[in-house]
Parts: sequence; C-alpha cells; structure tokens
Amino acid sequence: MALSPVVLPDLAAPAEETMKAIRVHALGGPDALRLEDAEIPAPAPGQARLRVEAAGLNFIEIYQRTGLYKGTLPFTPGTEAAGTVDAVGPGVAGVRVGDRVATVNALGAYAQYTLVPAERLVPVPDSVSTRAAAAVMLQGMTAEYLTSSTFPLGSEHVCLLHAAAGGVGLLLCQMAKRRGARVIGTVSTEGKAALAREAGCDDVILYTQTDFGAEVKRLTGGVGVHVVYDSVGRTTFARGLDCLTRRGMMVLFGQSSGPVEPLDPQVLNQRGSLFLTRPTLGHYTATRDELLERARDVLAAVGDGSLRVRIDRELPLAEAADAHRALEGRDTTGKVLLIP
Ligand code: NDP
Repeated sequence: MALSPVVLPDLAAPAEETMKAIRVHALGGPDALRLEDAEIPAPAPGQARLRVEAAGLNFIEIYQRTGLYKGTLPFTPGTEAAGTVDAVGPGVAGVRVGDRVATVNALGAYAQYTLVPAERLVPVPDSVSTRAAAAVMLQGMTAEYLTSSTFPLGSEHVCLLHAAAGGVGLLLCQMAKRRGARVIGTVSTEGKAALAREAGCDDVILYTQTDFGAEVKRLTGGVGVHVVYDSVGRTTFARGLDCLTRRGMMVLFGQSSGPVEPLDPQVLNQRGSLFLTRPTLGHYTATRDELLERARDVLAAVGDGSLRVRIDRELPLAEAADAHRALEGRDTTGKVLLIP
C-alpha cells in the first residue's frame, strides 16, 4: 500500500483568507477611505508579507486621497508599517517568517496584512516597541536626513522650522537641537507651542497670529536664519525666503497648506544668492545601506531614550477617515497610528 505523503502545515499561512483593508475607489474627502474585506495577498518573488501591528499615518496619504499626487485607483493607502513577517516570496534572503520589522515602503499599509519588497524591511531592535517603530520610521528618517544630509546643521546655525509640533516637526526640533543649532519653530496654537518648546525650540512663533517673517528678523537681529525647513508650503514659502540670511537654504519638503506658486529663479539671486531644494525621503534612502543606516540611527535613538516619539492617537483601521480629518484639520500633535 502506498503511503500518502506527509503534508506539513504551512505555519506562515494565516488561518483566514480575507482581511480588513482600507480601499479608495474614488478620489475625495476622508469618506473616500472605506473599510472592506480583501483577499490576503500572496508575496511575489522578492516580497515579504507583513502582519501589520500598526500603520503610520502620513500627510502624503492626504495628497494621494485627494488626487494632488496621482496614482491608480482603486488602492489601499499607507507605506509605513511595523509588525511581523508571516510569509516570504521566492528568492527572499535575509528576512524570515517571525521577524519583527518595520518599513516605509509597504504596498498598502492600511490593512491587516501588507506586501513589502523584502529589501525595504528594517529589523526592529528589542529596545523599541513595534508601535513606536511604526510611529517613527518615516517621520524620524525624514527629520534625520533633513538635519544631517540636506543641510547638515551645527552649533553655528540658526534654523526656522514650520509646523514644529507636527509629526515630523517634533522630531526635527529634537534633532536640530541635538546638533547644537538654535531652533525657531512656528505653530498655530499655544498648546502646540508648549510641545515645540519641550522638544527643543528656543523660540516659538504663533504664525497664525504673528508675522513670522518680521519676528524671525527681530529674533536674529536682522540677520536671518541659515536654513528654513518648510513642510507647510503655500502659506509660508514666500515669506520664508525673506527669513534667510545671505546664501541660506530653503528646504521645501512638504505642502500641508497646498502647493507653492511657480518660482522665478531670479528671486533667489535678489534675496541673497539663496539655495532651494525640494527633497524627498525616497532619494535619501535609495540604497539598502542608506536605508539601514538611517533607520538604525533613528531606532537606536528611540531605544536609548534620546529621541522621544509622541504618539498623538491610535485609532482602529475602521476610523481611518477620522484620522485623516484630524491630520488635515491641524488637530494632531505628533504621530497618528492606525491599528488593524
Ligand atoms: P504634521 O503632523 O506636520 O501635520 C501637518 C501640520 O501642518 C499641521 O498640524 C499644522 O500645524 C500645519 N499646517 C499648516 N497649515 C496647514 C493647513 N492649511 N492644513 C493642514 N495643516 C497645516 O504632518 P506630517 O508630520 O505627517 O507631515 C508634515 C509635512 O512633511 C507634510 O507636508 C508632509 O508631506 C511632509 N513630509 C515630507 C517628507 C519628505 O521626505 N519630503 C517626508 C515626510 C513628510 P500647525 O497647526 O502648527 O500649523
């Protein structure tokens, strides 16, 4: 009698076949984010599947939901997640089922499971909780590259950073301060001002009440700042150029208030031979080595307590629309996490 082959259970396979995921079928407001049942995806060659413990909310998902950044419909938003690898596709080396990892390159993080190119996964050290990792990866590496690579800050510099109590903002304050710079931050409310000061701002300007351009000039004795880190865009960009000292650098890295108007390069000459850059995290973590180095630095700082991550709120996946409303309504300070 022929023996039937022993079938070993695939320990990686989840018991269920469907998962909850947020889907966007049509561009629009927060209600475009719909909680649906979706098939648990199978990893293709080079991919790993992550059981998502927490997904990080980032402003870019608002640009994608509204269509400011173009994509293909329908889609599941979210690139930042942390959790456990529960399956790997063919050809994946260096990542194993059961690894606790984080990423900023998930292919749809607002879900119970997401696929990720395996080479874009980063191990989470024991000293960092999975939720803290999800909270700090994208905004932390952003603050890190802005202060160490785009404009390497030192104790000889004064910087102006907008939305200082935001997700990136609070991390940027701490890193700029740690590098010895004098930090001037802008925020919209007194409550946010207190948080920005706690994070290391030497001076905080309520830019909703005060002309921040005039205030920066006053605070710097008319000299201006060496660098402006501007993630707000439309409402701050032009005045920010006036805040720079000769040969200063405008680092425009976001547009929370909307895109900036087109610029005549001659303006940079007139304002003092200024530099302008529009950086993005992907270009500062393009290689695996660079990704690992930046992630390691950020996670190590969280682990040893030298970098504090403020989690503003944790919401279930079903409340993704409320999470978006809060972020675009300027109602958050620090990180918003979605918990599937
Ligand atoms: P934040 O937590 O900073 O939230 C946005 C903040 O911007 C608000 O809290 C608010 O702070 C301020 N703001 C000013 N005007 C507006 C407005 N009209 N509508 C909404 N908010 C406004 O978000 P994130 O930390 O997630 O992202 C910050 C920015 O950084 C975004 O623009 C994002 O796109 C960008 N970014 C860029 C990256 C890059 O590599 N280029 C990577 C990561 C983020 P206040 O109330 O104090 O004014």
